[in-house]
Amino acid sequence: MKQPKILLIYTGGTIGMIKDFETGALRAFNFKKLWERIPELSHLDCDIETIAFKDPIDSSDMNPTYWVKMATIIESNYADFDGFVVLHGSDTMSYSSSALSFMLENLAKPVIFTGSQLPIGDLRTDAKENLITSIQLASLQDEYGNPQITEVGLYFEYKLYRANRTTKINAEHFEAFASLNYPPLAESGVHLKIFKENLRRSEPKKPFKVHKKIDNSIALIKLFPGITRASLEGFLASTTIKAIILETYGAGNAPTEAWFLAFLQKIKEKGIIIVNVTQCSGGKVIMGQYETSVALKNLAIVSGKDITTEAAVTKLMYLLGKKMDVTTFKTVFETQIRGEMS
Ligand code: ASP
Repeated sequence: MKQPKILLIYTGGTIGMIKDFETGALRAFNFKKLWERIPELSHLDCDIETIAFKDPIDSSDMNPTYWVKMATIIESNYADFDGFVVLHGSDTMSYSSSALSFMLENLAKPVIFTGSQLPIGDLRTDAKENLITSIQLASLQDEYGNPQITEVGLYFEYKLYRANRTTKINAEHFEAFASLNYPPLAESGVHLKIFKENLRRSEPKKPFKVHKKIDNSIALIKLFPGITRASLEGFLASTTIKAIILETYGAGNAPTEAWFLAFLQKIKEKGIIIVNVTQCSGGKVIMGQYETSVALKNLAIVSGKDITTEAAVTKLMYLLGKKMDVTTFKTVFETQIRGEMS
């Protein structure tokens, strides 16, 4: 069998940085010199090519234009490579990888996002393991030479997750991500264990399609006890917002005060879509379970079920890019399209 070909896409983030010994600050290093930093790469059973953003970014500067850039790189190299590894800052990695999961339809090859908490040159870095195992995961093939993973994954600290199920949960632990509503796809230890039953199966007959129309006319409202009418009024005046994610409590609950419900009613009358997503990292929205969510159910607010906020934000932007009426939108949003909800 011929060696798998892997494309490594460096977008920025700590993983590709080194410490400037004069200033002490982290700066992006020349990615062409990756092999000098990680000579182990030449021992892997695959051919690796790299491509880097001209100006690598801290992922706090990430936006939909960069998502389109990443999707376009994958699209134009899709036929020539067996797998893709995207190196990305961890801060917004769950957003970007979720976005890509929606933009890449009928993916039949692995796209693995990874990064690190410490730069590649640091003595105690987690970058080497994350990078090497991500490449190995992207290279995995079955006995017929077909890729084993056919979805967008996120690998960090010994675990591969479905990307659109992840959330960054820690700013300093090596174990920075969690996927509370879906089990890992693989675990790395002495052996690389793939949990085949958790993987998404590709539909080989359907053609790979890249969607690049992303509409970010959305807003996110996180509820908190004491939230005021005045702080929400601006949304009613907005002429650009097409959808709002309402981050609610627990199983999708919200205040029952008359002014708040009237606010939601007015938002709906403006034709703005409202999606109910829980603030909890695990569990799901069940409107109607408590009295405090009955009104939301009666307003026919879209249920985010057990979707993460990251996946909800990116799924909304992806779906807004396709024109559809409000009722169809509700049905489509509530249906899982890339394994992002149960
Ligand atoms: N601030 C960095 C980023 O997200 C942190 C990291 O790389 O993990 O780009």
